[in-house]
Order: sequence, then structure tokens, then C-alpha cells
Amino acid sequence: MEMNDKDTLTIVEHIKNFARRHSLFVLAYGTGCGAIEVPPTMTSRYDAERFGIVGRATPRQADVLLITGYLSVKTLKRVIRTYEQMQNPKYVIGFGSCTINGGMYWDSYNTIKVLDQYMPVDVYINGCMPRPESVISGFIKLQQLIKAGKADGWKKYQENLDWYRTNQKKVIKNWNMPDYNW
Ligand code: SF4
Repeated sequence: MEMNDKDTLTIVEHIKNFARRHSLFVLAYGTGCGAIEVPPTMTSRYDAERFGIVGRATPRQADVLLITGYLSVKTLKRVIRTYEQMQNPKYVIGFGSCTINGGMYWDSYNTIKVLDQYMPVDVYINGCMPRPESVISGFIKLQQLIKAGKADGWKKYQENLDWYRTNQKKVIKNWNMPDYNW
């Protein structure tokens, strides 16, 4: 039987991706102003849990990392450490203009501008700051990518670790974290 593109994911992967996209465990972590939009998204008014989106307290229990706005170099270091502690498969959502192009902090001396230079980003949500409707729409986009087997930032991170490390170390001068050897 001839295989087409749709057949490239195995049935098992389809089943796994079905489960993954309906059980997104989000790390309770916030940076920048966008973090203020997370509580209304997760609580009764917008009720993200109806999409299978729930909060988790530690990186090892979570598979979604939200970067909810600008990142100072100091915070970037913590974010990288956190991301690397999460189990695969894992996904990153960048909130707001600050993660896309620096936003209103584009010429700040101590914030980074383009998040995906330092870690893979599966979905960006634009706006300053994005409303809960946009946040939910971003999660739905992530679910669609997981369904299609295209939410593979975590694989790119492993495959291009040297490139990410070089960029990370260019801005984080006091690098004293373990260099993983995947
Ligand atoms: S995009 Fe706007 S709301 Fe979000 S962190 Fe930047 S300045 Fe704050």
C-alpha cells in the first residue's frame, strides 16, 4: 500500500497526540505583564480547563511553558533551566510583542528581543497584552500543531542545541548551569 503524508505518523503517534493535545499541563510560571492574563484564562470566566488546559506546580509535571512577556537576561537563565527540566514532549508559547520582537523594550539593555533565538517557540500570541480570548486561541493553535505532529520545538532544541547554547551564552555572561549532553 502506498503511503501518503498523512500516513507518516503512526497510529500509535496519533493516539498519543490525541491524549497530549487534550491534556496540556501548564507550568505555573509568569514573566512580564502578560502573566496577568493567565488567571482569568484559567479560572471560571474563560475556563481553559474545558480544553484540557490545567496548571501544574513544577517543571517535571508540566509540558507547556508560557513565556508571558519580556524576559530580562537574568530571567532568561531561569527560563532555560526550567525548560530543560521539563520532560519531552514539551511546548513553548510566547505571549505578546515582547517575545516576538522586543516590543516596547526593543532597545532595552537588559532584555532579550526575539525569544526563539534562545529556545524553540511552538506558538506566538501577538498583542500587548493578549486578551484571554487570544490566549485560548493560541492554545487551540498549539493543539492543532500537536494533532498534526508539527509541535516539534523540543526536537529542534535537541538537534540544534549548540546553536541555542551559543546564543544563550552570548547574552548570559555568568553561565554556571550544567551543559547537558543529549
Ligand atoms: S507585550 Fe506588552 S503586555 Fe506583554 S510583556 Fe511586553 S509590554 Fe508587557
